[in-house]
Amino acid sequence: MDLKFGEREEALRQQVRSFLLEHLPARDASKDARTDDEAFEAAKKFNAELGRRGWIAPAWPKEYGGLGATIYEQMVFNEEFGYYGAPDTGTRGFGVGMIGPTLIIHGNDEQKAEHLPRINSGEAIWCQGYSEPGAGSDLASLQTRAVRDGDDYVVNGQKIWTSGGHRANWMFLLARTDPDAPKHRGISFLLLDIKNTPGVQVRPLINMHNRHHFNEVFFEDVRIPRRNLVGEENRGWYVGMTLLDFERSGIGTTAAHRHTLERLAGWLQDQSAAKRDKYRAGLANLVIENNVAKYLGYRIGDMQSKGQHPNYEASVIKIFQSELGQRIYRFGVNMLGLPGQLLPEEPRALFEGEMPESYMSSVPSTIYSGSNEIQRNIIATRGLGLPRG
Ligand SMILES: Cc1cc2nc3c(=O)[nH]c(=O)nc-3n(C[C@H](O)[C@H](O)[C@H](O)COP(=O)(O)OP(=O)(O)OC[C@H]3O[C@@H](n4cnc5c(N)ncnc54)[C@H](O)[C@@H]3O)c2cc1C
Repeated sequence: MDLKFGEREEALRQQVRSFLLEHLPARDASKDARTDDEAFEAAKKFNAELGRRGWIAPAWPKEYGGLGATIYEQMVFNEEFGYYGAPDTGTRGFGVGMIGPTLIIHGNDEQKAEHLPRINSGEAIWCQGYSEPGAGSDLASLQTRAVRDGDDYVVNGQKIWTSGGHRANWMFLLARTDPDAPKHRGISFLLLDIKNTPGVQVRPLINMHNRHHFNEVFFEDVRIPRRNLVGEENRGWYVGMTLLDFERSGIGTTAAHRHTLERLAGWLQDQSAAKRDKYRAGLANLVIENNVAKYLGYRIGDMQSKGQHPNYEASVIKIFQSELGQRIYRFGVNMLGLPGQLLPEEPRALFEGEMPESYMSSVPSTIYSGSNEIQRNIIATRGLGLPRG
């Protein structure tokens, strides 16, 4: 690995940091943009401000509205955003991280012209319609049907666990267009104007910390114009998999974990000698592991900067980081004792209730983005060359 954080990247880091300190809404774990309306509106404003600077998708090529930033510059943005807790609406995560690069590769000129500028400005808020009640890890079993009718597809079926589906104005989804083809072959990739299309019903699913983050989405005779088909009909599986290949280095999460560990260390400083003795080694271990995660993330960035395509390497960081997040927050909740378990709404909550809130958010991190068991299968087969089980 050949790390390239030089003067240019450090100057950018200072610039991004000053911007964040000036423009970020006050940090408050009770007001997560994913679940709180007020925080969501603040995140929209923040994204619009980023958009004005060309900082939503800085690494995109200039012809698509990006700044043509290097992977290392992109990592600087991700680290600073992660450390300072920059909120998102679905524009950066699903828009820049997933559908934008997919359209750059598979979209036609009209689709790029319609969607990429709206991602760059922060206006487009995307959600992902992949999972169904009977299709998660085995995604190709999906049953949502899209049938051609004149210039439209008529879509019927159901998606589940749709993060931010109640806030999004667009959804990218996979639907079966040929039920007789082998299961990976009869799937198409469609774009749905989710707010303005009749027949779409978004129903809340309340998560274990009693927040509304994900949804079930039902389609009843939903008409999607054929111009919203990305790539070829029945070849959507390959378009959909391109999207999943846009694995990120996870460097923003590592920076967010560093912020948490610094908070915990600061708190421990002021405790009794007995308490410090009890927790100092555990905290030091977590800091070491977080540095390991940082370098695993840099390795992904370094590969991308050399035009290589991270594959099982991205699975390594996904497993390591999600399991480390669970260890960090479990440690934090234990170390802070009873006040550390108070939720953000409680006036006496420590760190605005960050620890229990993040602890609960860390639980599903080993399930989403491809469960850790599936990631281990990828490492075994593609990384170690073992036969499929
Ligand atoms: C917080 C959260 C947000 C999400 N957001 C979205 C979203 O926005 N859009 C979307 O489309 N989906 C979303 N998902 C869904 C997510 O992608 C699925 O939950 C995930 O793919 C697992 O599918 P499943 O829940 O059907 O579990 P299953 O696939 O039924 O798996 C159940 C268990 O069996 C294990 N397993 C399955 N197959 C294998 C195998 N071959 N080898 C070994 N073990 C196996 C799994 O690891 C898991 O432990 C979200 C999920 C969560 C938790």
